[in-house]
Amino acid sequence: MKTELVIDLEAEKQEILKRYRALLRASKSTLQKGDKKEIRKAFDMALESHKDMRRKSGEPYIYHPIAVAQIAAEEIGLGTTSIVCALLHDVVEDTDITLEDIEREFGKKTAKIIDGLTKISGVFDTNSSLQAENFRKMLLTLADDVRVILIKLADRLHNMRTMDFMPRHKQLKIASETIYLYAPLAHRLGLYAIKSELEDLSMKYLDPDTYKFIAKKLNEKKAERALFIKKFVEPIDEIVHEQGLVADVYGRPKSIHSIWNKMKKKNIPFEEVYDLFAIRIILDSAPENEKADCWKAYSIVTDLYRPNPDRLRDWVSSPKGNGYESLHTTVMGPRGQWVEVQIRTQRMNEIAEKGFAAHWKYKESSNDNGLDQWIQKVREMLSNPEANALDFLDDFKMNLFSDEIFIFTPKGALIQLPLGATALDFAFEIHTDVGATCIGAKVNHKLVPISYKLQNGDQVEIITSSKQTPKEDWLNVVVTAKAKAKIKSSLKEEKRKIAENGKEILERKLKSLKITYNTDNLQKLSYFFKLPSTQELFVNVALGKIELKDIKEYLSSEKEVENRGPERPENLSVDGIKSKIKGGESDILLIGEDMQRIDYTLAACCNPIPGDDVFGFITVSEGIKIHRTNCPNAAQLMANYGYRVVKAKWNKQQELTFLTGLRIVGIDDVGLINNITRVISTDFKVNMRSITVDTNEGIFDGSIMIFVNDTEHLENLIKNLLKVRGVTGVTRFDA
Ligand code: MN
Repeated sequence: MKTELVIDLEAEKQEILKRYRALLRASKSTLQKGDKKEIRKAFDMALESHKDMRRKSGEPYIYHPIAVAQIAAEEIGLGTTSIVCALLHDVVEDTDITLEDIEREFGKKTAKIIDGLTKISGVFDTNSSLQAENFRKMLLTLADDVRVILIKLADRLHNMRTMDFMPRHKQLKIASETIYLYAPLAHRLGLYAIKSELEDLSMKYLDPDTYKFIAKKLNEKKAERALFIKKFVEPIDEIVHEQGLVADVYGRPKSIHSIWNKMKKKNIPFEEVYDLFAIRIILDSAPENEKADCWKAYSIVTDLYRPNPDRLRDWVSSPKGNGYESLHTTVMGPRGQWVEVQIRTQRMNEIAEKGFAAHWKYKESSNDNGLDQWIQKVREMLSNPEANALDFLDDFKMNLFSDEIFIFTPKGALIQLPLGATALDFAFEIHTDVGATCIGAKVNHKLVPISYKLQNGDQVEIITSSKQTPKEDWLNVVVTAKAKAKIKSSLKEEKRKIAENGKEILERKLKSLKITYNTDNLQKLSYFFKLPSTQELFVNVALGKIELKDIKEYLSSEKEVENRGPERPENLSVDGIKSKIKGGESDILLIGEDMQRIDYTLAACCNPIPGDDVFGFITVSEGIKIHRTNCPNAAQLMANYGYRVVKAKWNKQQELTFLTGLRIVGIDDVGLINNITRVISTDFKVNMRSITVDTNEGIFDGSIMIFVNDTEHLENLIKNLLKVRGVTGVTRFDA
């Protein structure tokens, strides 16, 4: 179903102006010369930049910043800078206006606060599971200017008040955040009215049935309660005025959330909650009489109603950490029920509702100096939380001295890094590719090199280039283990690519010199250039450190090397053995057949079995040893003693068995060993010489020495072992 929205633009324009004027009225008490102009400028900028945007409700978007500014002014008591910031709080995030624009138009301070506000919304929108943690870090980082937090509270309050048009899942997310983070924060800052409203609004979305139930119950007894309050208040009012005090005495309902809390805490039905309201006596006192007046009122109340001595709270003599001042007592009412009475002056009441902002308004006219002092006060408060206040702030102080810093991404996500971390560390923290191609960074919009040491609260944007690759000296730039590991592996990978390239170049060069490209020659070349591996050889070729003329040089020296030759005292026997082989049908040693004619044994280093590719190697004293061509020693033997190598192959018609080893790994399971040995002994009738098994945390790792006929036999066995349940790998190894 489509509902048509008919918008009367002219009426809207009037409404916007009406709301703007209401904002001006709300901020009147703090306005100083020139302030009105600033607010107008901010309003015009916000109006223009949000002009095509609408809220989910269909209303013009500008209603929201105006409302946030109004809450900041009226309900928190903030001044012009905050009103300007509140009006502009969404423009950097949602429109084309940049922080630079803000700074140019409104100065550094305003830009900084708006920057903070933009960052905070990132913290909340990106990662919901880390919220509490991020929130704490956010405070830590941004407590620099607590107005950021206060405007954010105003923003949240307005969003909570206008959440009906949000989809359900968003309502739940926002309401959960609010009850979990924002309401305790408001409490901590002494913003009781805002705290209560945030709690009630959260409950309205999180637990709508209970909320409605209590609201309904409250409503049912409303008239009855009003009557009770009237009767309770009347005598107090009378005597208070008789005694020359100017006071406002009234009943104030408790919030739905606090009633529900009491029901849960005491496990009682709604009917048994006695303090559904509190009586307030708000005195209009001269500053020097405040304390005396409060106690005078206290005495009047307790003369009329019997107080519960355990329930006297004197926050007038020693205010709460968040600035709250009040005298609370609980007295027995006329119908035998306890009634809470709160006694305070107008000044104290304003502080109770609006927190410290109101407090400083009383200290001196709301200039920036006063506000700065207040901010300082809040910072102290945040850094020294009283017990049970805000649990998640408890380790705040500790964190001030910790070796962690918190960095923002351009989108406002928080990244935690160790102290001393650089822009390059940050880049690798974001993503390996970002790190690997990093050429610099913008920190708080200023260009810095990759080695720039980050400061707590920095906002970092990494600049990359596809031409960039990790460099060896980057290892000295980074401090995080993650970045180091990534750089090392990138360098390795880079080297592999270079080697790949060098390999091709060398292949071409060797071809042009008519040298066969094989392992043998590569080994010789590496040896000649004193390089530890063929990979290094390739790298040197790729980097141009080994050129064609160097290889030619090698060629001429090779003859010399060959002429000199290694010591060969058994020259004769080598030739003798060779001639014996040649005396047969071919110059190939047939293993298993020429046994009588030629003395040979199977090398212990690689345990060849029939079917393996093998070669014979004439030793000094032990005759011919048969090695597998992939024996770890093969390359070295063939490279250095090529003249001692004889061709060899297996004679198919033998009935010998050969010892080899199998390594079997898998998931340890009942009967696994049984199943393995069954396959080996029963199915394949293979003899086992030894079996060793290691199980560790459910991982099975066994070594079995078996006698097999040939590679075909072995391969079949391996195939069947792999079918055993739990077995994940079977590999041949050499004893
Ligand atoms: Mn907003």
